[in-house]
Amino acid sequence: MKNITVIGSGTMGNGIAHVFAQCGYNVTLVDISKEALDRGIATITKNLDRQVTKGTLTEADKTATLARIAPVTDLSAGVSSADLVVEAATENIDLKLKIFRDIDAAAPAHCILASNTSSISITRIAAVTKRSDKVIGMHFMNPVPVMKLVEVIRGYNTSDEVTQAVMQLSMKLGKAPVEVNDYPGFVANKILMPMINEAIITLHEGVAGVEEIDAVMKLGMAHPMGPLRLADFIGLDVCLSRIAGWFRQPEICTVSVAREHGSGRTSRR
Ligand code: NAD
Repeated sequence: MKNITVIGSGTMGNGIAHVFAQCGYNVTLVDISKEALDRGIATITKNLDRQVTKGTLTEADKTATLARIAPVTDLSAGVSSADLVVEAATENIDLKLKIFRDIDAAAPAHCILASNTSSISITRIAAVTKRSDKVIGMHFMNPVPVMKLVEVIRGYNTSDEVTQAVMQLSMKLGKAPVEVNDYPGFVANKILMPMINEAIITLHEGVAGVEEIDAVMKLGMAHPMGPLRLADFIGLDVCLSRIAGWFRQPEICTVSVAREHGSGRTSRR
């Protein structure tokens, strides 16, 4: 894999483009406007500058990294020679389904299509393409250049070959990939969001104040930051939409039930 296309140059997309380009991949960065792309490139430049100041990157490596990123607004042209597309556009199911239909029509047949979605079923996204075996979740964490985890999510039909290719690629980026199955919240948000929700309920019930709740989880459970601080960092609207989104995806429940009763085809066939 050499040519990577990242869709969306926002918080996550510019971070994903940054790490691929820094590791020597040719990156095409797609967004809907030149202004959005300019903002994305400005953020990458600022983050690379920080690495240079810290002494973890040379000025020459910074220049070479930026030179490997080509910003474009035409999605079809942007994916036409991609080996892997990582979609990191706005978290909206209709938007993502449209993007995947368009990518599927324009990308080469061998190209793997990954989504960085936090809450939308990979199986559902894959179903709008003609290559559901090559559709997978690559759930990077924010901030992407810093955080090690990539949750690699297998959809109902994702092949072993594609999963292995994405696991190996993530390791080449210096990340720690973890393979999980498609399920509301995957693993990260399935566990994190109820904890944040419980912290908010604990505050609401008057059990303790904000500082006290965060202190208990930091000092007692060795969490680097308390759940309420983390909720603010993620955004309360984002937390709510992640949980609410799970209840709007009935097909993911069907897949789970089929697995439980042993009557469904599994993604590992
Ligand atoms: P963001 O709002 O910062 O960026 C989204 C970008 O997508 C914007 O620049 C927007 O212009 C662009 N976009 C919208 N429609 C597009 C289209 N048709 N084609 C190309 N680009 C388009 O959002 P974000 O926080 O970077 O989130 C992106 C994805 O990553 C979401 O699926 C989100 O759930 C997921 N995610 C976010 C975080 C986080 O902490 N922010 C963490 C993990 C995963």
